[in-house]
Amino acid sequence: MVKTLRSKLLFIFLSIIFLSLSFIGYISYQSQKEVLMKQLENSFFLFSDSLAANIDQFITETVIDLSYLAENPIIKDPNSNLKAIKSQFLRFTKLYAPFDNVTFVDMDGIVKVDLLDHSLIGQDLSDRRWFMKAKAYDRYFSDVFYSKFSNKPILVIAAIVKDNNDQPIGVLRSVFDLEVLGNYIYNSTLQPKTDKSYNTFLFNDDGVIISRPDRKIDTQVNYFNKNNVDIGYIKEMVKNKQIYVNKNTEEVSAFSKIQTGTVFKNNWYLAVSVSKSEFFAPLDTLLFQYIFYMILSFLVTTLAIVKFSNYLIDPITKLVVATSDLAVGRKQNPITLNSYSEINQLSEKYNYMIEQVEKREEEHKKTSLILESTSNGIMAFDKEKMVITTFNKTCETIFHIPKDKVLEKTVSQVVNNYPAFKVFIEQANIMERISKNSNPQFWEFQLSLNGKTSYFHLVLKELPKHNQNKEAEILVIIRDLSEQKIMENEILRTEKLKVIGELAASFAHEIRNPLTTIRGFIQLLDISNDNHTKEQKYYKIILQEIDRINGIVTDLMCMAKPNGDQQFILTNLNQIIEDITLLYDGQGSLNKVLIEKELDHSVPLFFTYGSKLKQVFINLIKNAFEAMPNGGTLTIKTIYIKEESSVEISIADTGIGMDQQTIANLRKLFFTTKSSGTGLGLPMCYMIIEDMDGSLTVSSKVGKGTTFTIKLYINSAPYHSQDI
Ligand code: ADP
Ligand code: MG
Repeated sequence: MVKTLRSKLLFIFLSIIFLSLSFIGYISYQSQKEVLMKQLENSFFLFSDSLAANIDQFITETVIDLSYLAENPIIKDPNSNLKAIKSQFLRFTKLYAPFDNVTFVDMDGIVKVDLLDHSLIGQDLSDRRWFMKAKAYDRYFSDVFYSKFSNKPILVIAAIVKDNNDQPIGVLRSVFDLEVLGNYIYNSTLQPKTDKSYNTFLFNDDGVIISRPDRKIDTQVNYFNKNNVDIGYIKEMVKNKQIYVNKNTEEVSAFSKIQTGTVFKNNWYLAVSVSKSEFFAPLDTLLFQYIFYMILSFLVTTLAIVKFSNYLIDPITKLVVATSDLAVGRKQNPITLNSYSEINQLSEKYNYMIEQVEKREEEHKKTSLILESTSNGIMAFDKEKMVITTFNKTCETIFHIPKDKVLEKTVSQVVNNYPAFKVFIEQANIMERISKNSNPQFWEFQLSLNGKTSYFHLVLKELPKHNQNKEAEILVIIRDLSEQKIMENEILRTEKLKVIGELAASFAHEIRNPLTTIRGFIQLLDISNDNHTKEQKYYKIILQEIDRINGIVTDLMCMAKPNGDQQFILTNLNQIIEDITLLYDGQGSLNKVLIEKELDHSVPLFFTYGSKLKQVFINLIKNAFEAMPNGGTLTIKTIYIKEESSVEISIADTGIGMDQQTIANLRKLFFTTKSSGTGLGLPMCYMIIEDMDGSLTVSSKVGKGTTFTIKLYINSAPYHSQDI
């Protein structure tokens, strides 16, 4: 999955960062959440408690207010007019909103004054709880109860009235307006500092709701039933300062008990509730902030890590690309990296390496070039497995085997596939020589393959191991000596010929003189003897034979001194042919030989040994005539081959032709099939033409005729005849 260094680095770094960020985030979120939760709870309780304290204050003030009324001198005076008292009550209720109505009863419980309900006057209320409590404790603050008279839940506050002698004269009773209390609580919770929408319930230990958020008065609904709690649970939570989460209403509540005192003895509880989402909103905000900052820091670190990994990896990537390029032989420029010191060192070394590799490659190329262009066959194979590792171009030419069929193959595999190679390895005795200890070994050997004899000079050398992992190699250097041998033989032959020629020439010269004398005397004898005698016949034969010897001697002298006329002159080839054929015209018609000439007039004038060429043409034409005793056609052609700057002269007859054996012997001195032939004409022709760097070829068929073709290069270097 993560193969590259970059992805590995990224994966590891990011994993570490992610895990540690998550861990730290989680831990600090949890601790901060706890702190925040505590804070939330505390402030919630603070709020609830302060509200409860306010309510307590409110209650206390209310009681004090009524006590204040009880201290009113008009009311205190037992002789006061009832009307005056009533007007005091009116003033009081107007001044203090919580008081709905005020009733005054005497110490027997008989109603004396009632601000609102006149029908009550004279009634006995001594059995009322408030009356009894006020009588007993001076002041009384009732719990909420349902009033049959006013048909709604009410509260009653009572205070005893004492005269100036401190004697109780009656009890004041006021009905407390619950709506005023509700409004008070509602307004307190609406203070601008509270940012939440609080719902506040005031209820007693029976669950009767004294005040509720909508400020309606409804005794039918019990707080405990409504919220699925009981007084024990609430007491517990007040004691432990625990918040209550109502699963049904999705509300969070804090409970506080209203302080009790000497007058106010009710067990009232205040429940301040807020919706769960609102209560926990700061926690959500905290979580959101945490997630936001986590993502932000993760992104920032990711960016930093990507940058850092780029910084680490980019130079490595560059080096990798450069190395791969180098591996496939793409030209390399030195790398310039300005990175951390390890990479700088590496790139420096890399550049040095490229330099070295290039140098080595250059050397290798040069060596390969030398190896491939040398005229020596070079072959190498490892000593152990005999796998061929080197086989140069010259080897390919010698054995006629392409390199790819040999390289990486063992010697025995190649031996099996290629007979020429097999013959070479066997006849050169390579294997046997390898096992010999001497190193290097040089020897010459002769190879006969397909009827052709070749000469080789071999060097066998064991190359030392140039690498620990490589085997020692055997190097075989093959030099083809065949050409050289042929040349040597040729030189030997010409040398011999030269000596013989010179000898023959001097012999011929010496023979010609006595021969001329003998011929002269025989002729004299022949003429003086005019009888047609038998001797005369012999003389004729003697003369004929002497002429024959003369012919041989002339040819011999010509052979031995072919360079008699050595003029290198500007020659008109066609003209030479015209001149010679003119000589043969007479003989042609005599022998019924038709001479045809097809001369190419584009043949340019060129420098050559004209008289020698003439000698060649004469010899060839003479032979052609002799091959056509019963007549025929002699065709002489010249062709100028411009592209080659050469001329071809062909002399064709329709004569008797030659068999293979005759053709094979044409170069041999004194080879003739004619009774009066000398066998020197053609050898001389070959000698002259080849001396001119030209060629003389023959094609012939028995009974059909013969064609001799001469090829001369007219731009060839001037012919400097050696003195043969
Ligand atoms: P010679 O003509 O004295 O025999 P050459 O050297 O001129 O010697 O020729 C050698 C031999 O080559 C001839 O004896 C003949 O057998 C053969 N030969 C040469 N030219 C021709 C030819 N045009 N047609 C047939 N045979 C030829
Ligand atoms: Mg001849």
